[in-house]
Amino acid sequence: MPSIITHAVVPLIVGAAMGRRHISARLLIMGAVLAALPDADVISFKLGIAYTDTWGHRGAAHSIAFALAISCLASVFYKSLHTSLGRCISFLFLAAVSHPLLDACTDGGLGVALFWPFSELRWFMPFRPIEVSPIGLTRFLSQRGWAVLQSEILWVWLPTLGLAAVLLAGRWIWPAKYSSGKN
Ligand SMILES: [Zn+2]
Repeated sequence: MPSIITHAVVPLIVGAAMGRRHISARLLIMGAVLAALPDADVISFKLGIAYTDTWGHRGAAHSIAFALAISCLASVFYKSLHTSLGRCISFLFLAAVSHPLLDACTDGGLGVALFWPFSELRWFMPFRPIEVSPIGLTRFLSQRGWAVLQSEILWVWLPTLGLAAVLLAGRWIWPAKYSSGKN
């Protein structure tokens, strides 16, 4: 996996670039939480569930179906998140599904069960430039953790900042279009 910080950073940067009018601060934070949430499945190691099992790490919790389910569940609170229902589900789903898609670009571990429950196949992208992050904070704070973070900055943070720059440019060029949002 890319580190939990990197997973959370992606929706934070993109959502912030879209502007408060479109993505409220609360929705932004919820997006960061849902983007990191699939890795809660590392608890499976402590529970004795095999890595390759449906509920093992990178299994069902790393599927499109799971991303959709947690986005819909969190969107029950769309009013508290100061947004509309449609915007809430869309942003949270994109934030949540970014997690398995990024994991699928890493160079180690098993692939992600992206198409669960229709397929248990552990799946990788054809292009896997991101160094896989060690599991656990102690191991992440090692020398290898630093190498992983550098790889994530190059392959995740910089492209995300590039996307944010495009969004900011769009808001600057077409201010009327981008300010027509309801929230
Ligand atoms: Zn993951």
